[in-house]
Parts: sequence; C-alpha cells; structure tokens
Amino acid sequence: MHNLHDKLIKVHDRLQDAAETAKRRPPSIQLLAVSKTQPASKIRELFQYGVVQFGENYLQEALEKQQQLADLAIEWHFIGPIQSNKTLAIAQNFNWVHSVDRFKIAQRLSSQRSEEQSPLNICIQVNTDSESTKGGVSFDELETLAIQVLGLPHLRLRGLMAIPAPRQNYTAQVAVFKQVQTALEHLRQRVPEYNRNELDTLSMGMSGDLEAAITAGATIIRVGTDLFGSRLKQPN
Ligand SMILES: *Cc1c(COP(=O)(O)O)cnc(C)c1O
Repeated sequence: MHNLHDKLIKVHDRLQDAAETAKRRPPSIQLLAVSKTQPASKIRELFQYGVVQFGENYLQEALEKQQQLADLAIEWHFIGPIQSNKTLAIAQNFNWVHSVDRFKIAQRLSSQRSEEQSPLNICIQVNTDSESTKGGVSFDELETLAIQVLGLPHLRLRGLMAIPAPRQNYTAQVAVFKQVQTALEHLRQRVPEYNRNELDTLSMGMSGDLEAAITAGATIIRVGTDLFGSRLKQPN
C-alpha cells in the first residue's frame, strides 16, 4: 500500500464499509482530499483517479497549486484558519470554506465574492471540546452566527465542520460526532424552511476517525494522511 492509487482504494473501501455498517448510501458521503503540504503533481494524479474535491489550509500554498492545476475542474475547499487580510483571495478562489467561526469573516467573504460567481458554500466550524488552540464556535454560539450568515447575500450556509480532540475509542468518537449531528438537526428546525434544504452538510472525520464520523452522519470526510502518506514539510 504505497502508491496513491492503492491508498485511494483503501480509503474508498473504508468509506464503503462504514456506510454499509451505518446503513447509509455510499454516494451520500463525499471524500475531500486534504492536500496541504502535498505537491500539485499528486493532486493531478488523484484527479485522474476521479477525486475532484481538494482541501487546503494555507492560502499562499493553495494559490500556487491552483495556478499549476488551472486546467483541471477541481472543486477547492478552504479548511484552515482565516485571517481577515486573506478573505478576498479565499472568497474568489475557492468553492467552499469550512472554517468560518466569526461574523466579521463571513461578512468579508460575502462582500468580496465576485458577482459573477455562484454563492460561496460555507460550513460553520464548531469547537466541540472548547479547545482554546482551535477555531470554531461553541454549541451555544452556533445559532446566532448561523442566522447572521444566512442573511449574507453571496454565501450559502451548508452545514457544520468539526475537528474533535482525539478520543480513546470508537464509541467516544461516535459520541462527539453525534453531538455535531444533533446541533445541525437542531439548527435545521430553527431556520426558515427556505434555508433548510441547503443545510445538508456535516464535514467531519479524518484519517483516524472517519468510520465514527460516517456512523454519525458525516457527508464530507476530510482525509489527508491516509491518502497521501505523511505530510512533507511543516508549513511556515
Ligand atoms: C490536516 C487536516 C485534515 C486531514 O487530517 P489527516 O489526519 O491527515 O487525515 C482534515 N481536516 C483539517 C481541518 C485539517 O487541517
């Protein structure tokens, strides 16, 4: 299991098995390949195998790769922390942003999305463990931010993203992901019916816990290490 193709098959098999166990349709779960620190050549290779959604954490690195891969119809997802001075480039060069956790950032993304583009797909990041080192709103703050984001014209609120702290075992992993699933369900009850159908996304599950996330309803799993191997360099 060393080359990219073998690794992709292995991740697909895990997705498939977890979906079956959870009695879910595998196509209801999308694979987002997290390509931070990986070269454009590997993204190109995975694209040839049918992977079209890629997630990047660092803007400058992402923009460079986007230039090199401009001939491919890749769907780009921004999944890293967002500084205000980066919102213009994020708004105009990505299809999705998973890491929104402040209204100010959401406002800037909306106003800087260009008119010709379709609305930017947004997930609000939830900080499941109140970790001060991680982004995300608390479960308590979620509804307020969601209602604010729903009022922004060039954004489309799609759901929630979470990166829970590691858990001891599968049961504990499922439990925290289910909290996120419940939070989305609750939110869906509280928003106008008009917005409800678009709130269909749970971005959760990484290399180490994707099975638990799928059990708890994940619709996008974000996989880096188990797809590409270990990361090449620490970004600066
Ligand atoms: C790096 C990263 C991932 C991928 O994690 P792996 O454990 O390498 O699969 C997923 N989501 C986010 C937000 C990340 O930063």
